[in-house]
Amino acid sequence: MSFQHFNTKAVHFSSYDGGKNISKTKPIYQTSAFSFKSLEDMEQFFQGEKDYLYSRYNNPNTDDLGYGTAQLEGAPAGIATSSGMSAILTGVLAAAAPGDHIVVPLDLYGGTYQLFQQELQEWGIEVTVADFRDPSNIEAAIESNTTLLYAESVTNPLLRVENIEELITIARRHSLYVMIDNTFATPCFCQPYSLGADIVVHSATKYIGGHSDVTAGILTGHRDMIQKAKQRVINLGANLSPFEAWLACRGLKTLSVRMAKQAENAAALAEWFQQKSNALVYYPETLSEQGNGAMVTIDLGEHYDVSRFFQSLDWIKIVPTLAGVETTVSYPLNTSHRTVPDAIRNDLGITEGTVRISVGIEDARDIIDTFRHALHQAKK
Ligand SMILES: *Cc1c(COP(=O)(O)O)cnc(C)c1O
Repeated sequence: MSFQHFNTKAVHFSSYDGGKNISKTKPIYQTSAFSFKSLEDMEQFFQGEKDYLYSRYNNPNTDDLGYGTAQLEGAPAGIATSSGMSAILTGVLAAAAPGDHIVVPLDLYGGTYQLFQQELQEWGIEVTVADFRDPSNIEAAIESNTTLLYAESVTNPLLRVENIEELITIARRHSLYVMIDNTFATPCFCQPYSLGADIVVHSATKYIGGHSDVTAGILTGHRDMIQKAKQRVINLGANLSPFEAWLACRGLKTLSVRMAKQAENAAALAEWFQQKSNALVYYPETLSEQGNGAMVTIDLGEHYDVSRFFQSLDWIKIVPTLAGVETTVSYPLNTSHRTVPDAIRNDLGITEGTVRISVGIEDARDIIDTFRHALHQAKK
């Protein structure tokens, strides 16, 4: 028997039975919690026999994203988070507690730099910034309470390829964890876990999402480290929403074909700049045999007018992010590196002429011709 009048019907018309209709793709489990038929049924969750209870803990869509990325990284475990920043925060908190010390590079992504300087220090985790371009600086920065070396596989915006093997050797010598932000390289071109890193993080907002329509983060790594990070995600409420996870999963499915095309276009563009322009070109040459990534940074130097260059880019938009299927440009000096002191910026080589290009999937000749035209317009 079922008692259902108007107000009851209004909320009970829909009951989802995943067994009746088998969709080709995983549906979006847009639900904050999971229901149970009996107390015994719910107890099964706590005994580890059921996967889902409450979406802040986990959800089929967020699990898919963590698991799928872990597979590509060659790691045993992975979880999704609300953003790249929350992935970095919860990953660091899995490897360092108040009173501990971490060593990080000078040419860190701006948001990460601020997280470390403004938040971690206040929570009692000491941070030393070292110039990782010379590994002896890393060794010199290690203290008795150091627990973690943090780095990025490819840096922003000058695309320095970190020597992860060297970092791991140093870390092993001092029994430290290694955490790598693999956002720019993606698992297509670098797999830090396979090289020995303990935690790998991604801003899935970038290449994994790939279409600039989602903000998300991912952590992959050792099962115990990911379990620790997951407890932080739950406690801090840094979980990803099911719909965002679903979008990022859709992106993950085409990551390898997008990266192959984008990296091919990037290599062609970098070569063109090198041969046919007076711009200084930053493009990695040693990232992987599969490709060197899809970011190209140029320095217009004294030869071109920066404002006119940006005005002459036709369909190439100025956007303070990267990694979408469309080619975009950004200007590090007044975005990501706006608050970086002049001395550090100069030392890193970021100038008024630095332009970061995120190369998309368009026809390479159109990308090159559009930049050729812009450089021509901007010639001093
Ligand atoms: C964008 C980015 C982040 C931050 O990710 P969000 O998704 O914006 O929180 C961290 N690291 C790198 C290298 C990034 O490019």
